[in-house]
Amino acid sequence: MKLSCVSTSEARSAEDKSLFYAATSQTVETWGNFLSDWSNSPTMANHYSLPPLPYKYDALQPYISEKIMMLHHDKHHAAYVNGANAALDKLEKARKGEIQIDVRAVLRDFSFNVDGHILHSIFWPNMAPAGKGGGNPGGSLGDLITRDFGGFDKFKAQFSDAAKTVEGSGWALLLYDRETGQLVLTQVEKQNFMHLAQMTILLGLDVWEHAYYLDYMNDRGKYVDNWWNVVNWSDVDSRLSKARV
Ligand code: MN
Repeated sequence: MKLSCVSTSEARSAEDKSLFYAATSQTVETWGNFLSDWSNSPTMANHYSLPPLPYKYDALQPYISEKIMMLHHDKHHAAYVNGANAALDKLEKARKGEIQIDVRAVLRDFSFNVDGHILHSIFWPNMAPAGKGGGNPGGSLGDLITRDFGGFDKFKAQFSDAAKTVEGSGWALLLYDRETGQLVLTQVEKQNFMHLAQMTILLGLDVWEHAYYLDYMNDRGKYVDNWWNVVNWSDVDSRLSKARV
């Protein structure tokens, strides 16, 4: 099946795309700097674009269906990309005096959509097809999880608890705190970040209903439990290595 890519800048080069992927694995802070540079580039015209999935839509079956992945990526993530770009356009037009806007509302809209874009850009490579994903993390990530959570099973239980108890729509995230050098968990309401910029997102689980309802109906717990079968630990480990530099 052909992967669709809803891009607002079709003429982007392969180099630009590789820069984009490099940015998705960096910290949010670095991402912000990158986007700032990017938006100042005369060729990039301050627009975000939807990254393609790193696997086929049906790759996460039977745990996440092809239908959900198509809708989630092509419709929901695309809407955040388009929403962020629309907000940027409104801000620019307002600066030029072409329109009047409620700056507070537009900035809130911009934040909501950019955060959604960033979280989903991390979420897709955080997963891998069953067989390639799942299991237990090894290496430095596994060591750190054992040190900071008292073992993988204890980490998994608390992360799952965080995901299952998000009120309404939101995320559970595993973060690396660069100040203390330790791993911490957080919940995100909707998709507005509630952690400090010094923390790097390593692993995220989307528990908005659009992420599981078609497959699991209202049984978010089963979705969370099954999701562990497709966690891409090598991606999480590589984010940790970059965060610790
Ligand atoms: Mn989502």
